[in-house]
Amino acid sequence: VLESSTNNAKTSPSELDGRDVAFVIVAAGRGERARDAGNGPKQYFDLGGKTVLARTLDAIAGAFSVDKQPKLQVVIHRDDDALFASALAELENANALPAIYGGETRQASVREGLRALKTDSPDIVLIHDAARPFVSRTIISDLIDTARAGDASLPLAPIFDTVKTVEGDEVSGTLDRDGLGLAQTPQAFRYPDILELHEKAAQLPCTFTDDVAIAEHFGMKVKAVGGDTANIKLTSAADFQRARTQLSRFLPDIRMGTAYDVHRSEPGTEITLCGLVIPSPVQLIGHSDADVALHALTDAVLGALADGDIGSHFPPSDEKWRGAASDQFLIHAMKRAAERGAVVTMLDVTIICEAPKIGPHRDAMRHKISAITGLSVERIAVKATTNETIGFIGRQEGIAAVASATVVFPNPL
Ligand code: MG
Repeated sequence: VLESSTNNAKTSPSELDGRDVAFVIVAAGRGERARDAGNGPKQYFDLGGKTVLARTLDAIAGAFSVDKQPKLQVVIHRDDDALFASALAELENANALPAIYGGETRQASVREGLRALKTDSPDIVLIHDAARPFVSRTIISDLIDTARAGDASLPLAPIFDTVKTVEGDEVSGTLDRDGLGLAQTPQAFRYPDILELHEKAAQLPCTFTDDVAIAEHFGMKVKAVGGDTANIKLTSAADFQRARTQLSRFLPDIRMGTAYDVHRSEPGTEITLCGLVIPSPVQLIGHSDADVALHALTDAVLGALADGDIGSHFPPSDEKWRGAASDQFLIHAMKRAAERGAVVTMLDVTIICEAPKIGPHRDAMRHKISAITGLSVERIAVKATTNETIGFIGRQEGIAAVASATVVFPNPL
């Protein structure tokens, strides 16, 4: 339940097929110009709780159908093994190939990345800067379409400022910006073509700052697709500042519900708690099966949804809930969440009673709640305390439960 609703909430279904596609992601640079925005190389800087590189990989993977993912070949610096390993641990969607080490220049790093793909030999390769985490599905899709039609391509972003030429500090002219565009990545090619050109370029005395420049040098036709000013290459500390501000708009919409329930008890032989029947010197009295723990959890979920309470959804006056198994109440609350695109990420319940002992049944209870809700067991906490023999619980007149539910709503953007 959690996995599927997470995906539904995050992106609309994607049809992009990447099975004949590979990405070379260049992450070997040292990023000197961004020094003030974090420690170490900039592709491993934190950006809203995740490294830049992890964001870039997830953005690419998220553009493709889950079962039609492209190959992701990351090229890293040989000092960055540990940084890369922790970035991998942050990935949500992406599944990268083992990283390879880059060379002295960007061009040499790309060449290594292309060589590493020889065994896979994809039809199309997109070469991308790790420091561009905001690449859109539209750009990727346009580039792949162009490459499948046989042409190399790159995204060109429009220039809004007037562009001057300078000599020293003296302006020497004004360029007609109509004929100009800003080169972005990814840049897309037929794989065998760009591999061959990169090998040829390696023999030249000069180096190139992007891959399309190599294609141009050897006379290959290159098409431009619409670039996107959001597809910024994070370069300076100011770029990071802007990106972090922008990302704060995407903070997850996390809501929390709490609840309390209590049922009177009487002597008995077994009790239903968390959907589980266990031996007990007391049993609970109630309209339904009186599972105080599931009632509290149901109310906690409804609370996070601001969607009434268990009594308003299942009126005690209604005969049909007499003796009802309480799992259906929780299932109903979970469904109410799913209907709103919300994902329950944590359920936590504390049972307060003198008897029975909860500890020996704790894990079985967590598994039972997992079976009811579809949440993984690690997202379910069952705790217990006595009431130190004081008050109505201490006198064993009743059992209470308090619960909380954490629910993540889809971002309004
Ligand atoms: Mg109740």
